[in-house]
Amino acid sequence: MKTPLLGPFRAPTAPEHTLGPIQKIDAPMKRYGPDDEVDVLIVGVGSAGGVLLQRLARAGFRVVGLEAGPFWDVERDWVSDEAGSHQLYWNELRITGGPDPITLGANNSGRGVGGGSVHWAGFTPRFHPSDFRIHTEDGVGVDWPISYDDIKPYYELLEREIPVSGPAYFPWGHPHGYTYGPHPLGGVGDVLVRGCTKLGIRVVAGGPVAINSGSHADRPHCIYRGFCIQGCKVGAKKVMEVMWAAGAEEVVQEPRYAHLIGGARMGSDPQSSVVDSFERTHDTANLFCCDGSIMPTQGSANPGLTSQALAARTADYLITEREGVLRRRPAAVTVGAVPIRRDLSPAGTSGRGIPRRV
Ligand SMILES: Cc1cc2nc3c(=O)[nH]c(=O)nc-3n(C[C@H](O)[C@H](O)[C@H](O)COP(=O)(O)OP(=O)(O)OC[C@H]3O[C@@H](n4cnc5c(N)ncnc54)[C@H](O)[C@@H]3O)c2cc1C
Ligand code: SF4
Repeated sequence: MKTPLLGPFRAPTAPEHTLGPIQKIDAPMKRYGPDDEVDVLIVGVGSAGGVLLQRLARAGFRVVGLEAGPFWDVERDWVSDEAGSHQLYWNELRITGGPDPITLGANNSGRGVGGGSVHWAGFTPRFHPSDFRIHTEDGVGVDWPISYDDIKPYYELLEREIPVSGPAYFPWGHPHGYTYGPHPLGGVGDVLVRGCTKLGIRVVAGGPVAINSGSHADRPHCIYRGFCIQGCKVGAKKVMEVMWAAGAEEVVQEPRYAHLIGGARMGSDPQSSVVDSFERTHDTANLFCCDGSIMPTQGSANPGLTSQALAARTADYLITEREGVLRRRPAAVTVGAVPIRRDLSPAGTSGRGIPRRV
């Protein structure tokens, strides 16, 4: 950690990014010149791209992240004020391609390092096992090419890394528990819980959310002032800053509620999907789509944790298949054959605590 900020804010000195002297986390960044060769270029260092970058950098890949928005400085750029926070959202007019184009550009995506995770509410439930086979079970949509069991170890890993705060026992979907304790209830929640209990409706409370219920590493406890979707100035909510702690190699800046998913969905058939089960495009051997767009169906819960878990899984695949991918050879590794790199978690997170096993 740098010395806490005591003086007046200062403008950034380097023109190529907005990292100023008041950035809280002090981690060196490797820089590359225009002629340097790198292994991986990540376009968009958002919620999922940040996880990918963090893991590949820690695994020794030479990685450059290109981000359309700024590298936010929590202290300088974020304010606990709705009116002052509009810059966090990507509200410009965006129109999708295809025969039936739709207009994006409402408050549904972020810009800048961290992407949507800067202003997300931080609700981080897992998808249910049935969400991965919705066509088989309900006759609608499509099945995923992976099952819940393929992604479950990554849910467990990220829930501890983030960390996700939640109840010790969460009964829905695949029942599981959270290592980090739940948040206390507010007055309204308290009334709801008491009412449900009286009526015999089972209820758990206090998460899962990617918001600290106690201080964790360099991030303090949430102080409950409710500006989560304006960017958590306190630093209690998890944004993809975690990549700093991972020693990310390079970040270069080039000068209400909707989940954007499904634009480049994963599947086994190249005729009906864009990427395979490791987010590798069917057409181009060294091109991956690593974000929410690869989800074949939305699932029963918010998608953020799932897209981050898939990004961590894709990183493990890239590490395993490094030579094949860099040399553009066709995919060789099959689902289930990729070792999980728990050692890529930030120090002291993987393996901490004893999550309840059911
Ligand atoms: C208000 C709000 C609340 C939300 N709350 C929750 C919640 O509680 N729980 C949950 O699970 N989800 C929530 N979401 C959704 C969640 O934020 C997204 O699902 C998630 O951020 C998507 O991650 P991503 O990596 O796909 O894209 P993003 O996080 O949007 O990242 C994409 C990045 O790519 C950059 N980029 C785009 N084009 C280019 C380009 N051409 N060159 C370089 N960079 C580029 C963007 O600037 C952005 O940083 C919320 C969303 C909103 C808007
Ligand atoms: S301190 Fe807590 S309530 Fe305030 S913005 Fe951060 S996460 Fe939200």
